[in-house]
Amino acid sequence: MLKLYNTLTRRKEAFKPIKQGIVAMYTCGPTVYDYAHIGNFRAYIASDLLKRYLIYKGLRVKHVMNLTDVDDKTILRSRQEKIALKELTDRFIKAFFEDLKALNISPADVFPRATEHIKEMVELIKKLLALNIAYKTNDGIYYDIKKFKGYGKLSHFRIGKLKAGARVRADLYEKAQAQDFALWKFHTPEDGDVFWQTDIGQGRPGWHIECSAMSMKYLGEHFDIHTGGVDLIFPHHENEIAQSEAASGKKFVNFWVHNEWLLVEGKKMSKSIGNFYTLRDLLAKGYDARAIRYLLMATHYRQQLNFTFNGLDGARAAIARLDEFMLKLKRAREEESDKKVYGLVKKVRESFESAMDDDLDIGKALASLFVFVREINKIIDKRKISERDAKEIYTLMLEFDSVLGLGLDREETKAPPEILKLVEEREKARAKKNFKLADKLREQIKARGYLVEDTEQGPRVKRIK
Ligand code: AMP
Ligand code: ZN
Repeated sequence: MLKLYNTLTRRKEAFKPIKQGIVAMYTCGPTVYDYAHIGNFRAYIASDLLKRYLIYKGLRVKHVMNLTDVDDKTILRSRQEKIALKELTDRFIKAFFEDLKALNISPADVFPRATEHIKEMVELIKKLLALNIAYKTNDGIYYDIKKFKGYGKLSHFRIGKLKAGARVRADLYEKAQAQDFALWKFHTPEDGDVFWQTDIGQGRPGWHIECSAMSMKYLGEHFDIHTGGVDLIFPHHENEIAQSEAASGKKFVNFWVHNEWLLVEGKKMSKSIGNFYTLRDLLAKGYDARAIRYLLMATHYRQQLNFTFNGLDGARAAIARLDEFMLKLKRAREEESDKKVYGLVKKVRESFESAMDDDLDIGKALASLFVFVREINKIIDKRKISERDAKEIYTLMLEFDSVLGLGLDREETKAPPEILKLVEEREKARAKKNFKLADKLREQIKARGYLVEDTEQGPRVKRIK
């Protein structure tokens, strides 16, 4: 039985889906005005691990992740770059999807964009107006938090004690003098051509309303799991609850699952101290996406994760050990096995699952996996493993990997996405007869451990070693 820590109750609780066999899960996605950074990917990998483990346990998961493609930041950036909002957000949505792929984060079933759900948001706001929970001012429509009895139940803030400056992350348009938050922002000249003509006036949505409107549209008014980073607990998720529950009269979400923060070399990531990294920054430095995924995943999601370059080297070594193990299993040709094998297999499955069942204790799960690898390696080295058992272990490793997402099933010739990207760039260079660049790219690929051969069917990539 899987237990998950629920921010709402501050306890680990046995997880049971509302509808048998299927889990409805919502993850707050990126604001698409720039490339996502590794802190963001910590959050998405934490959700991915949870989703993958639910699937491992035989559940179906319907997963929704929103794309915030209209807010202060996106509008500001599009104005700075003098391009249409959509051009900007399309560019970063595309980049985001590429990054998800590079990190082997399984895509959500639906990636709703805020700008494509204005109608649903307006409907929700109209409901809140009708209920007298929302009110109009001259610059927008606000949510009156005093009208919602449950306000503060997630973050455990009490209204009377809330200071205006106490917000972890304030919506730039929240009213400074109170905690009431904007549902709808009437059009201002700074917004340029970004506005919608609607029943509730000309303008654009506040930040929180999109997640209420889109989660309820795709998952229903009451669903199983909502995830995000701890910074979103307040005000974002508190406000989502207030909006949704006031409108529906139902409990919004059963399990609120929040990941802790990522630090880089022990410090809060920031551009000014030079420890700010997008995924692309790290790939350009030659780091392997699998190692990055491993490092982002291997710390329990409710602990702070200290991202270091040493740690990244360690992650790379851990993956190399697993790759080598898979290769050895493939090569096993003996007829009989040591009697210990059966017990080791049984034990690793039990310990992996009991660790993951305990609020996704990935540290313990990985530790038991590596003990297993070490023990089986010893047996393989003594030529005491049968081809049949080796195959079975290989399959078991792939089952574990359906949770870990490390791509252990790669054939030796299959290259990771970042290598394939370089190969693609090299092809483009060759097509333009820029052979100098093509050769340079070949060297870069080689430096990362892969060889490109040009064949009649196009380039073929091989792992060196
Ligand atoms: P944002 O685009 O800022 O709304 O962030 C998207 C997701 O990334 C949210 O779930 C945030 O909580 C999460 N996030 C942002 N920065 C970090 C960080 N340094 N560590 C962990 N999660 C983060
Ligand atoms: Zn959200």
